Amino acid sequence: MKPFTYLQATDVPSALRAISSSPDARFIGGGTNLVDLMKYGVEQPAHLIDIGKLPLANIEPLPGGGVRIGALARNSDIANHLLIREKAPLLAEAIVAGASPQLRNAATAGGNLMQRTRCYYFYDTGFTQCNKRIPGSGCAARDGLNRIHAILGTSDKCIATNPSDMSVALAAIGATVQVQGNSGPRSIPFADFHRLPGETPQIDTNLNKEELITAIDVPGFPFALNYCYLKVRDRRSYAFALVSVAAMIDVRAGKIHDVRFALGGVAPKPWRVPAAEQQVIGQEPGAEAYGNAADVALKGARTFPHNAFKLELARRSIIRALTTAAVKGERNGNVG
Ligand SMILES: Cc1cc2nc3c(=O)[nH]c(=O)nc-3n(C[C@H](O)[C@H](O)[C@H](O)COP(=O)(O)OP(=O)(O)OC[C@H]3O[C@@H](n4cnc5c(N)ncnc54)[C@H](O)[C@@H]3O)c2cc1C
Ligand code: SF4
Repeated sequence: MKPFTYLQATDVPSALRAISSSPDARFIGGGTNLVDLMKYGVEQPAHLIDIGKLPLANIEPLPGGGVRIGALARNSDIANHLLIREKAPLLAEAIVAGASPQLRNAATAGGNLMQRTRCYYFYDTGFTQCNKRIPGSGCAARDGLNRIHAILGTSDKCIATNPSDMSVALAAIGATVQVQGNSGPRSIPFADFHRLPGETPQIDTNLNKEELITAIDVPGFPFALNYCYLKVRDRRSYAFALVSVAAMIDVRAGKIHDVRFALGGVAPKPWRVPAAEQQVIGQEPGAEAYGNAADVALKGARTFPHNAFKLELARRSIIRALTTAAVKGERNGNVG
């Protein structure tokens, strides 16, 4: 590992000053992704700014029924918090579907959003072709093993997926990321937080390098309890998603009144298509309507030699997740 300096930041202004002092400085939260990347030589920061002790770990109610999650709140604390269990159980379910209890105890909300792809060729510096790691070098996954790779939103430069489970739920819910830079705060709608690779796959998000995530705002939903996070993976636990679906549905008088869903494991960012949701408003709930929504969400999918199975898997997963969410609504008595 390349030598680096270490600074424990005590407040937000000093953390921002420190990150601006060098292009080779990086924030470190729980360290569960960044330290791995440093050990593998994928990332080589010269300066680490530890933000773990900043006073940004609160989870508190927002006016209107939402919840503000501090960027330094640990994944376990979020998933087990009463407010999250009551107001956004979809988020709690997505978080506990990820990693392991030990990792979730260390990982922070901000770090989870910023975690990098799990493409094998990105992690293995023995491969010289990876546009995300070395811009302009090519993409070993396109002609290599691409079973875990994306079928939506890819570019000729990169076909990697975003690995975060938490982000799939936040995309479905329509969260807002609060950030702070030296020139002040700004809010980023979740749909705009992660980027598609396009010509610049090395840039994962629209967060500027010198900005700090301070909080994530989750809006309240009257049908928040009618939810399902479905994660399909090679092992029952401790594995990243091949396909995941975060879903919530509101059924009233036998018709779909409102619906939200997003996909993970299929694209370089959590994949939410509002037109797919609009497609089924007013229809009778059931496999036919959910299948129609899936077809819109998966429009334009492009598969690679080893991952064609993901298209049918994603369609079936959407139908199953929405069916489960609707049944949960019936059981909860949340059906008008
Ligand atoms: C074996 C293993 C299995 C895993 N399985 C899953 C899984 O199934 N699902 C899943 O979703 N995740 C999984 N993870 C990933 C895990 O969720 C992430 O490593 C974790 O969420 C990262 O959080 P962190 O606080 O440790 O981030 P760090 O490693 O500290 O940081 C990650 C990145 O975020 C940046 N950063 C951190 N905080 C901020 C902030 N507030 N503002 C701006 N930038 C910031 C850092 O600079 C760094 O670039 C797994 C990890 C491991 C090691
Ligand atoms: S898919 Fe992206 S991360 Fe993977 S090898 Fe290609 S460029 Fe690199």
